[in-house]
Amino acid sequence: MHNFYPANFRAQFPALQDAGVYLDSAATTLKPQCLIDATSTFYSLSAGTVHRSHYASAQELTARYEQARTQVARWINATDPHSIVWTRGATEAINLVAQSWLEPLLHAGDEIVVSEAEHHANFVPWLMLAQRHNARLIKLPLGSDKLPDLSLLPQLLNGKTRLLALGQMSNVTGGRPSLKLAIELAHQVGAKVMIDGAQGIVHARTDVQALDIDFYAFSGHKFYGPTGLGVLYAKPELLEVMSPWHGGGKMLTQVDFKGFTIKPPPWRFEAGTPNVAGVIGLSATLDWLANIDMEAAERWSCELADTAEEQLAVLPGFRSFRASNASLLSFELAGLHHHDVVTLLAESGVALRAGQHCAQPLMQALGVSGTLRASFAPYNTLQDVEALVRALRLAIDLLEES
Ligand code: PMP
Repeated sequence: MHNFYPANFRAQFPALQDAGVYLDSAATTLKPQCLIDATSTFYSLSAGTVHRSHYASAQELTARYEQARTQVARWINATDPHSIVWTRGATEAINLVAQSWLEPLLHAGDEIVVSEAEHHANFVPWLMLAQRHNARLIKLPLGSDKLPDLSLLPQLLNGKTRLLALGQMSNVTGGRPSLKLAIELAHQVGAKVMIDGAQGIVHARTDVQALDIDFYAFSGHKFYGPTGLGVLYAKPELLEVMSPWHGGGKMLTQVDFKGFTIKPPPWRFEAGTPNVAGVIGLSATLDWLANIDMEAAERWSCELADTAEEQLAVLPGFRSFRASNASLLSFELAGLHHHDVVTLLAESGVALRAGQHCAQPLMQALGVSGTLRASFAPYNTLQDVEALVRALRLAIDLLEES
């Protein structure tokens, strides 16, 4: 039975007792009690690590570790748990695709289409490859609705396009482009698509089969999960042709001075002792989330962002960069520097992020040096919005006096 009651949801997050008004969930979500308990139990009671030892507790950990892979696969409707690779985060997952999938295929003159709205994590790895191989990075510009303008894709995609890199949700505007349309258009010219799900995963259920996604990456810590753990999903036939990128223990079946033979995916990409605590923590988070009505939770976050935008619209110099129906609100107050404002907000106990949000090409497209960003999660309340408005009014008064 799925449900969403804001107060019950909020009660699962012990950090809210001390965090003041937390409006920075797009940077990282707070951690639910189930994750804290599962991780703490693991560190207190478990002995051994995974895929190495034969005694009972190590075997049990291996089973839980692999079962969590199945859980993630089900969450995004991937057919095969072996199409899920554990990484350190979304950034590492995207770099893995860049280095192990695209790099060996890339030739001078090839093209990589990247939306202007991308976080550096889904931008810089492609830029680095393009520079190394004399390939071209092609800009998919932002449209007037603050979403990548997909109507331009038919002009930008062609037989030389190897990859389209697109975010599921912008960490600045909150805009969510139509993945289905973008992927269909890219596939028509034979290009593959890298979807950065770092922001999107927590806001909507993602179905990698229905969308026909080639590569999908996300981080545990933006999804009520642990830090230091991420996921790469790739279609099995793509993972199969990818070589390992890190050498070390447990990614091979045999090695001697002449060479080595690699394991099948996903293990060939998981050299070294993995983040077992993180995987167990994410598994607990998914068990908990499975009973939450995520759509209702998202509606609540968006309602809070709507209310905030409505109330802030009357402040002098307010300009919003929020895409429609986004649960986050990026804005500027003309004439005031975002860092001055955010410092004063912090003094009032309101946690917001200000700056370029690791999205400098997007800042250039928006014509700003940075923004303030209030990002709402289902554990936020109308009182949080009131506190934000109050603190902003105070900050404006103080900065205008000085
Ligand atoms: N993409 C987007 C849209 C993000 O917001 C972030 C995190 N700010 C990332 C990628 C990178 O995630 P991580 O730092 O967890 O690897």
